Amino acid sequence: MDYLAGLNPEQKAAVLQIKGPVMIIAGAGSGKTRVITYRVAHLIRSGVDSFNILVLTFTNKAAREMRERINHICGPEAKNIWMGTFHSVFAKLLRVEAEKIGYPSNFTIYDTDDSKSVLRAILKEMNLDDKLYAVNFVLNRISAAKNNLVGWQEYQQNDQIQADDQGGGRGKLGVIYQTYVQRCYRAGAMDFDDLLFKTNELLKLHPDVLNKYQHKFKYLMVDEYQDTNFSQYLIVKRLAAVNENICVVGDDAQSIYAFRGANIQNILNFEKDYPDLKIFKLEQNYRSTQNIVSVANSIIANNKEQLKKNVFSEKETGDKIKVMRAFSDNEEGKMVADTIMQDRSTNGMKWHDFAILYRTNAQSRSMEEALRKNNIPYKIYGGLSFYQRKEIKDLIAYFRLTFNPNDEEALKRVINYPKRGIGDTTVDRIIVAADKNSITPFEVILQPNRYIEKAPASLSAFAAMIQSFQVLAKNQSAYEAALYIAQHSGLLKDLYEDKSVEGLNRYENIQELLNGIKEFSEREDIEEKGLDVFMQDIALLTNDDKDKNKDADTVSLMTIHSSKGLEFPQVFVVGLEENLFPSQMSLNSRSDLEEERRLFYVAVTRAERKLSISYATSRFKFGTLINCEPSRFLDEIDARYLELDYSAKPAQSSFFDDERNAWSRKPDTKGDTFSKPKTATTPPPVKTTSILAKAHVVSKDFKIADTSNLQVGMQVEHERFGFGKVLNLEGNKPDVKATIFFKEIGQKQLLLKFAKLSIV
Ligand code: ATP
Ligand code: MG
Repeated sequence: MDYLAGLNPEQKAAVLQIKGPVMIIAGAGSGKTRVITYRVAHLIRSGVDSFNILVLTFTNKAAREMRERINHICGPEAKNIWMGTFHSVFAKLLRVEAEKIGYPSNFTIYDTDDSKSVLRAILKEMNLDDKLYAVNFVLNRISAAKNNLVGWQEYQQNDQIQADDQGGGRGKLGVIYQTYVQRCYRAGAMDFDDLLFKTNELLKLHPDVLNKYQHKFKYLMVDEYQDTNFSQYLIVKRLAAVNENICVVGDDAQSIYAFRGANIQNILNFEKDYPDLKIFKLEQNYRSTQNIVSVANSIIANNKEQLKKNVFSEKETGDKIKVMRAFSDNEEGKMVADTIMQDRSTNGMKWHDFAILYRTNAQSRSMEEALRKNNIPYKIYGGLSFYQRKEIKDLIAYFRLTFNPNDEEALKRVINYPKRGIGDTTVDRIIVAADKNSITPFEVILQPNRYIEKAPASLSAFAAMIQSFQVLAKNQSAYEAALYIAQHSGLLKDLYEDKSVEGLNRYENIQELLNGIKEFSEREDIEEKGLDVFMQDIALLTNDDKDKNKDADTVSLMTIHSSKGLEFPQVFVVGLEENLFPSQMSLNSRSDLEEERRLFYVAVTRAERKLSISYATSRFKFGTLINCEPSRFLDEIDARYLELDYSAKPAQSSFFDDERNAWSRKPDTKGDTFSKPKTATTPPPVKTTSILAKAHVVSKDFKIADTSNLQVGMQVEHERFGFGKVLNLEGNKPDVKATIFFKEIGQKQLLLKFAKLSIV
């Protein structure tokens, strides 16, 4: 069993415990994912049939990497394991069983855009105020209901829900929900939440199906268990009910999807559901230096709600965590890019050793700009997927219609693209006629003159074209069918004729999609190679899944949410400012704020060797320059582990505003102060403490302590830590650190620059 040599005793014990329920709730980087990987390998090595194993991961990428590792230990058996995200695994299962719940096996998966488009049509038909019934809001409500397994009937009958909706003046939500479900059903489509909702329905209503999968999946494993919602929890519980060979791993401190319905309760329920549960503790972090682990611990210690853990690292102490202050978002980008350039040349690092993590997608702009200026190659993860591009969605809509002509969103998308004289009015008439006659829009188009007035002749031609695609797709390879459809739909010609740079780009993207389909057609490891198979999970793919250059040497940019489970030698967490991180939306409740803090914990625990945190004192938001306060999270970090980099000087267009006693920046319409050559100007004296002090004034009376007044022995009050006494002061201005004994939480070292203290 030498393949188990790379595990510590506790990890090994968890791997060897293959029978019965197992739970590992442990800190970041402690090897939870590694335990799952080795556990699967061990199961196969112990003679368990790989077809009997189900592993649920957080991303498709994680599943792929795990499979590669298992393949390394066990060989090609790894191929047979059912492994992937909840959505992709259960989409696959539903394709096999869909007919039992009244869906075609080639059902379409509606992505978020499709769902919104269905809702927009419904809201329009119902003449509802689109502010009160904002599409995103309505979709979130429906999504939350589905993830709590509340169907539309129950939604309409539940007094509490109805009272809430009516109280908010949104009494029509129940009817919208019902119509939405019926529309999706008519279109033979499931949205993302349906993939879980319908799986639950299937397993609940069809004991024979449940039984089949309970016996198929004799061993279940779930990574990132803290982020499962109720619907996912119940699927796992149902499937594991017979054999109870279930192993879940997670970290409550990294639960960051409560807003999507993930529920810490699932961890607590697990203990109740399986009284003979074996719990394993993993405490050693193998990922990060001691300083990084200490910083992470000091951050999460501020959360009231958490299962206490003792995470430690035996790696080197490592560098202190660098806190960088910039005067603008663009300058922040520049500082990050400069650091990358420097560290790469002095430490011999590769581009792919660096990752930049941010709270919101919008922050990538200033980072990208700075990277581009330095010719640093980068890749944004989790951004707009290749498959979300308009031209790709258009062609795919033709494929969708070919396999499921009832797919209404696909129909609406391409019925008049390329233009064939079918206007919006005609489309509206088709939909109305379909509703009236309880048939699908495609059935209307098959006999247009029977159902609608003034039907353009091109309608029948369109229907005939789709039918010809259907015949073709049955008999040809995926590639031949796809190419034929691209040509005969007129789409390829339309794009070819557009000679603009964008047009060329779109044409190339279609070529790339076709190349991808060709590769798929030529694969030797799968038997079913029709275009329908290629299409199946396309809605679930992200841009990370279609990465030709997987091993390309690029800096990674992503939101913190997408960074879960990953690790990088050097990490930059940017935008540590109030109202950005923590986000403004999180400031109303303790639980939301604690979720933001967990997000910060996730961010810093991605770093292996070096971690930098940055903030800007001004930033463009919605086109206006605003001043920003450093994040409260900075104040919470134990200052022992921090090193400040205040080397940045204000940009040329900045000026010192005496009235505000702070730096200001002249609004620059381009939002870019660095595209202009910078000449050395002597900036006004940097009054660091006062700048921050001014920026830091909070609603209560707590201010940044005035370092010249503070003396050992003084009594102070901190905004959150309460009353305390100053035990020691060290360091020079402006980096004075105070060791303070707080009555409630004990001794803590604070950097006065950030500490919100008042002298009492
Ligand atoms: P996260 O909470 O971030 O998902 P995790 O608990 O899943 O983290 P892993 O990703 O499994 O942790 O492991 C973190 C790193 O530590 C990985 O690079 C892994 O290979 C390494 N590692 C884990 N256990 C050991 C070990 N016993 N010996 C050497 N390296 C280990
Ligand atoms: Mg992990």
